[in-house]
Amino acid sequence: MSENKGIALVTGGAGGIGAACCRELAKAGYRVGIHYRSSDLSAKKLMEELPGSFLIKADLSTEVGVDHIYEELKALGGIDVLVNNAGMTKDAPLMRAKLADFDQVVSVNMRSTWYLTKRLGRMMARKSAGRIINISSVVGSTGNAGQSVYAMTKAAINSFTKTCSLEFAHYGILVNSIAPGFIETPMTESLPEEEKLKIIERIPLGRMGKPEDIASMVRFLATEGNYCTGNTFHVNGGMYGAL
Ligand code: NAD
Repeated sequence: MSENKGIALVTGGAGGIGAACCRELAKAGYRVGIHYRSSDLSAKKLMEELPGSFLIKADLSTEVGVDHIYEELKALGGIDVLVNNAGMTKDAPLMRAKLADFDQVVSVNMRSTWYLTKRLGRMMARKSAGRIINISSVVGSTGNAGQSVYAMTKAAINSFTKTCSLEFAHYGILVNSIAPGFIETPMTESLPEEEKLKIIERIPLGRMGKPEDIASMVRFLATEGNYCTGNTFHVNGGMYGAL
């Protein structure tokens, strides 16, 4: 670990992209809060790997879970970087999709991001500084057959990012989102091999992304990017670019 840059929290920090973000931010000098919901073993292993890091266990889909994260960080004196990374998907063609799945995906991807950002944004405002990085998805811009709810929540994250950047600029808080393309993580490993090959054909760089490809953009937005706010940064091997 290099110089002490403060505290960074990564939600879903024990997962694919989340763990890479934790490693990268720890390398950049942050004391990293690894938030997780149920992966006790991998979260603990990651904490042992990263000096100064700590664990926060909470179900983000509940108000109590978010409030717990707030209290833990308050006890540590606040937060400098928030990476809203936790997310989930329940894929189905719209005509067969279930309302209960809609509610669950919205509550994790959208509602919890809104509520956690509201609570921790206030904490950052008291320090007149902070960085908030929301992990969105390329499908929030392109849509994707079978992902009506997921894509909708990710588009909402991009819009939320813009609004937060406007409300928080005054407090010195920069807010951006990163829209990954297809990344090799537990979320994509269940895709059939044939489907993966079709995806790779659409990627000019000819491969799926690695969690580290997203983590390096997270580090840039946390430690540099001093004039960047309200943007969605696409990291997808060239398969999509906003004009
Ligand atoms: P992942 O499944 O490894 O990570 C998702 C994390 O979210 C897990 O750690 C999980 O525990 C956590 N989570 C889910 N529901 C939760 C809840 N109720 N409370 C607390 N935590 C909860 O998958 P990943 O690919 O690393 O996904 C990370 C982020 O990147 C997600 O927001 C995802 O939508 C986004 N993303 C992934 C890809 C991809 O191709 N893998 C592409 C675009 C965007």
